[in-house]
Amino acid sequence: MSSEHQSFQAEVRQLLDIVIHSLYTDREIFIRELVSNASDALEKLKVIQLTENSLFQGERELQIEIATDEQARTLTITDAGIGMNREELVRNLGTIAHSGTKAFFQNLKEKGTQGNGMIGQFGVGFYSVFMVADRVDCFTRSWRDDESSWKWSSDGREGYEIEEVSGLDRGARLVIHLKEEYAEYAKESRIRELLAKYSNFVAFPILLNGERVNKVDALWLKPKNEVSEAEYEDFYRFTAKAWDKPRFTMHFTADVPLDIHALLFLPEENQERFGFGAIQPGVALYCKRVLIDPHPEGLLPEWLRFVRGVIDSADLPLNISRESMQDSALVKKLGQVVTNRLLKFLEKKAVDDETSYRDFYKGFSRFVKEGLVSSHEHRNALVGLLRFESSLTDAGELTSFDNYLARMKEGQKEIYYLAGSSRSVMEGGPYVEAFKARGLEVAYFTESVDEFVFDSISEFKDRKFLRADQADIELEDAVMEGEALGDEEIGALQTWWRETMGDVVTDVKTGRRLVGSPLVALVPEDSPNTQMRAMMKAMGQEVPGVKPVLEINPRHALVKKLSHLRESNPEVADLVARQLVDQAMLAAGLVEHPQQLAAGMNELLEKLL
Ligand code: ADP
Repeated sequence: MSSEHQSFQAEVRQLLDIVIHSLYTDREIFIRELVSNASDALEKLKVIQLTENSLFQGERELQIEIATDEQARTLTITDAGIGMNREELVRNLGTIAHSGTKAFFQNLKEKGTQGNGMIGQFGVGFYSVFMVADRVDCFTRSWRDDESSWKWSSDGREGYEIEEVSGLDRGARLVIHLKEEYAEYAKESRIRELLAKYSNFVAFPILLNGERVNKVDALWLKPKNEVSEAEYEDFYRFTAKAWDKPRFTMHFTADVPLDIHALLFLPEENQERFGFGAIQPGVALYCKRVLIDPHPEGLLPEWLRFVRGVIDSADLPLNISRESMQDSALVKKLGQVVTNRLLKFLEKKAVDDETSYRDFYKGFSRFVKEGLVSSHEHRNALVGLLRFESSLTDAGELTSFDNYLARMKEGQKEIYYLAGSSRSVMEGGPYVEAFKARGLEVAYFTESVDEFVFDSISEFKDRKFLRADQADIELEDAVMEGEALGDEEIGALQTWWRETMGDVVTDVKTGRRLVGSPLVALVPEDSPNTQMRAMMKAMGQEVPGVKPVLEINPRHALVKKLSHLRESNPEVADLVARQLVDQAMLAAGLVEHPQQLAAGMNELLEKLL
């Protein structure tokens, strides 16, 4: 039978080029990638056995055999997994379909990143073998009865040969012809060491030159007190293909309302921060140690996609398919129970281990906020997990809404917050002073998503959230320095202001919130506020003008003088009042075209000089 030459997809060629030439750091991980492919192929076979009614009774052991040959300088990895037919060979080993690999590759191309552990973390999978091999032969036969046997062979450069062979058993056998400088990988001792490092938790027996090397431990089924910290860490690195440590490990068992054995890890690093896009869900679903789905969508809520680990439930029907999984009420219930446990766990960590929780929050606050916007049933718990600075904390110090509630002044009913670009901008603005003067705490939020977050939460533990720049906040009277204008004068001033400037203001009120400023421009309830406006602008949308509600400070010298000026020189008073409004708008970040403000100022100066 003749062999046929095929070229790699262009992306594969580029990827191979990077793999072969530029990443020196983690060559050894190729072994992990290949063993994990063999293990995947066996897992898939196991599922097929279950769903296709034990097609393959009494035949080959579901195990991985590894053979080293120093003389021939080869390493051979054999599995009795699902194998591949011709079409699958071409698709799987000649193109890049895997989105993770594509993203990894894209990023390498853009940033030229070659950081330690990168290749391991994002797994270029099969192709990593070409870091150490100058030729790889893959002998394989698919599990389907009517398929032939194939040999795929490549030097990892331009393309590969494919030819029909005869007499193979089901599964795949990779013969790796090592480059001279990587002869170490044909040594039994070296491979033993690497298998211990990377493949200890593979769920199938691994035999190295005929001798069993791994334990096949379902760690999650063991009682907590029988698992060491080091085992947890190893298992985390194995299951998450990670290089960091787990920040938090949560291992629990339940029998009601469902049988659950869960071992979950919260990583140290948020991989989405590296710009790889949304990560795949990483909690694998098992039923009595049989892997149902390594990345089940819809088991845990989307915002928990950073969690890694395993959930095993004996209550799941063994033959549940990945398609029917999503609709299964049982799977939903399972997800709910685990999510609740996880939230409780985080709540407790936040109290018991504040520093670690803070570090976690720094990396993963985005997910908490995403959860707030999307998972309404967990809202209260998630609000409790938020951390922020406030008018009562020092800069850089974080607090929580539980602490806020505990500090609330007697008689205070609402929770005040402000969203802006930074603490200093918010404190420099006109809104905070009134709250400070009354000893009321204002929570500061500075991320662009925060506005959306507060759109979807209205209260926490029966206390309403109120934006501190909102027009309709009633603040209690505070004892203030300085004499105020009399009621009559204020009334007249307000009426005059409203009448002459109805074109630019919605209403004019006398405020009790101001201390050092003459007036403040407040956003009416139904208008988009500052952050929202910034976002609309960033998205290229038309930002509607705001007609603010003015709150004037009857104690302020400027206001008092304006009250007199209104009678003595109405024309100048009008110009001054407009100028004050412009300035208040500017301070509130509500002015779209600041350059236009100069015209008003010039007119005023002209009148005065
Ligand atoms: P990944 O494992 O991340 O999908 P790889 O590049 O490692 O990417 O492998 C590509 C594909 O080749 C796998 O998804 C699988 O379909 C197939 N494959 C690799 N090794 C084996 C094997 N030993 N048996 C059967 N199929 C395999």
